[in-house]
Amino acid sequence: MTTNFKPILLKGIRIYSDGQWIEHGYIKIKNQKIMEIGNTDHLSLQEEYEVLNVPLSLKAIPGFIDVHIHGANGADTMDATKEALDTMTQALPGEGTTSFLATTMTQEEKQIEEALINAGKYISEVQPPGKAEVLGIHLEGPFVNKEKAGAQPIQHIINPNLELFKKWEELANQTIKIVTLAPEQPGGLELVRYLKANGMIASIGHTNATYEQVLEAIDAGVNHVTHLYNQMTGLHHREPGVVGAAFLKDELKAELIVDGVHVHPEMVKLAYKQKGKEGIILITDSMRAKCLKNGNYDLGGQDVIVQDGRAFLSNGTLAGSILKLGQGVKNILSFTGCHIEEAIEMAAVNPAKQLHIFDRKGSISVGKDADIVLLDENFDVYMTICRGKVAYIKGGK
Ligand SMILES: [Zn+2]
Ligand SMILES: [Zn+2]
Repeated sequence: MTTNFKPILLKGIRIYSDGQWIEHGYIKIKNQKIMEIGNTDHLSLQEEYEVLNVPLSLKAIPGFIDVHIHGANGADTMDATKEALDTMTQALPGEGTTSFLATTMTQEEKQIEEALINAGKYISEVQPPGKAEVLGIHLEGPFVNKEKAGAQPIQHIINPNLELFKKWEELANQTIKIVTLAPEQPGGLELVRYLKANGMIASIGHTNATYEQVLEAIDAGVNHVTHLYNQMTGLHHREPGVVGAAFLKDELKAELIVDGVHVHPEMVKLAYKQKGKEGIILITDSMRAKCLKNGNYDLGGQDVIVQDGRAFLSNGTLAGSILKLGQGVKNILSFTGCHIEEAIEMAAVNPAKQLHIFDRKGSISVGKDADIVLLDENFDVYMTICRGKVAYIKGGK
């Protein structure tokens, strides 16, 4: 195990630890973990710690966890190579993301299988600190509804299939954490029950379900909504749809793409008013063009045009985002007027709890992984530490 890097010490900064701010605080980090947190006035300095010289105006908050991200910086989970995942784990700390679910998309079976084998292997091997950690896989499609395909290639969409899923689970080395599916499709509820019984998250998405069908799906075990509003039945006064169910049912945690493109800022505010800080999980749903220039890119064999902060297919359909999660955090502050503490819930605490890893991630607490983001006074990412090792410094490497 790579632990032969120096223990580090941050001091004199504001720290958001276990739901409260510590002014003029310090954090001792060693062996990838948070060892000690306190007030800098009471710090007893041991020589083994290397003091990181950072501006005292910074705020330390937990690293962001992106449960729905396809790609970044030219790489995509569907490339099915180690290099692609390396590229993502190296690029994401720049936006404050310290762990994520590598997200697949609807494709031919063989291509999905290659991506699952690759990610499953990557996750099962030791992931060195100093990069974002791949926590598992989010399988988006192919078990979705053709009526709500969006950018999922329609010709490869199939009905939920438990036997096929079991095979994939094995190929992925049991690392699948979330499955986005349309529960109203034949076989949908059977797959939902299986996921629930085996500790995986069934997420309703790319779906044409009615409100009644969502209630049935919740009964079967659905507790997550894939990119709320996008590619699902909207709110209607005679048919509340998936959006209505998401608003009314606390059982459902809702992913939200807060780039101001996928969802209108006022609709972000509406979702926030309905779900509160406990009910929303900020995601990027980003594709390979994130961090790159405007131009033409591939998404699941389809040509995607990236221009002015949007990624779309030639017919105008939105095709994933190029949002950085740190920007999503800033956007939700301005769209809803919420405070940074609430944004931290939505970007770090809620995803960690939903994935059942809050015992080791999602907050700055003694004993947890040292996944820490330092924000400057404009809430921009200044530095990111991934499992105890500096992974990004603004203007630095
Ligand atoms: Zn989608
Ligand atoms: Zn997606």
